[in-house]
Amino acid sequence: MLTYSNPNHLSKTVKTDLELLSIAAKKLGHELEPIFARDVQMKFSEKKPEVLVKNKKPKIEVLLVRANFLTESLDFHASLIKQFELAGITVVNKKSAVIKSKNKLQTLQILSKNKIPIPKTYILRTPEYIDEIVKDIGNYPVIIKTMSGSHGMGVSIVEKKRGLSSLIDMMVNGEGSAPLTVQEYVKESTGKDIRVFIVGKRIVAAMERIAVKKGEFRSNFQLGGRVRVIEMSRKEKDVAFAAIKACELDIAGVDILRTSSGPKVLEVNSNPGLEGITKASGRDIAGEIIKYAVKKAKIKK
Ligand code: ADP
Repeated sequence: MLTYSNPNHLSKTVKTDLELLSIAAKKLGHELEPIFARDVQMKFSEKKPEVLVKNKKPKIEVLLVRANFLTESLDFHASLIKQFELAGITVVNKKSAVIKSKNKLQTLQILSKNKIPIPKTYILRTPEYIDEIVKDIGNYPVIIKTMSGSHGMGVSIVEKKRGLSSLIDMMVNGEGSAPLTVQEYVKESTGKDIRVFIVGKRIVAAMERIAVKKGEFRSNFQLGGRVRVIEMSRKEKDVAFAAIKACELDIAGVDILRTSSGPKVLEVNSNPGLEGITKASGRDIAGEIIKYAVKKAKIKK
């Protein structure tokens, strides 16, 4: 048993997740060994692609990918995951799924192509057409997102027209410019969203995340949001399953906004944090993940 992450980007939550997974694996009689990207060597010859960990052939039944690297290094890390697949090792979540969920632009393309409900969203590189875009989205306020943010960082709300154009100018024309997301603001769900935790084809827990700070519209647990377990409607479940199916994910956290026109998917996360959902649900989510990964490896054998 094995997990995979980058020590340079280990946040408090990820460390805790690793601990939760290690405890769960031990309880179930498995050994979990963390592997860090920097310790992996990829070997190529005309025979076949090989993978080495600290320059030794690893004895791994299943690679449990914890994709906590930065989006900027997605290409390289995706190739590392692929190398384990090419070496015949069972991988959960697989490379194609990690790419689809880590690359927010690709996620939008996939969700939209599969007619999965999402807030109306534009990705743009110039403020030139902003009036038409805001009109199409609805009205102010609008939500602005960077392509590579996580834990609510890089998400902001713009209340009025004044400032939006210059903000876009600054973001997309500045040094290291990057495309910007402008999204419909779902007013009725302000400060709240739901996180659905799926392992295999099962919802193992669902919670509502609620922002506690006054005036905060972001409900991320990492920003101090409160959590409580909820019952999901049939429609919400269908939307969550459709999203993970479209992204080919085995293990995922799907973030959904409850809107007046039904559930809308905000994000599909291939590396969902365990701490908040474990506390909120009182369930051994890490244990569910380990059991699933082991089962998948056995089926493959
Ligand atoms: P991240 O990937 O950084 O968590 P999200 O897109 O999930 O970014 O946004 C963070 C939080 O901001 C969400 O959990 C939600 O509470 C709030 N939020 C994001 N987009 C919208 C939106 N379009 N309308 C209303 N609230 C939103």
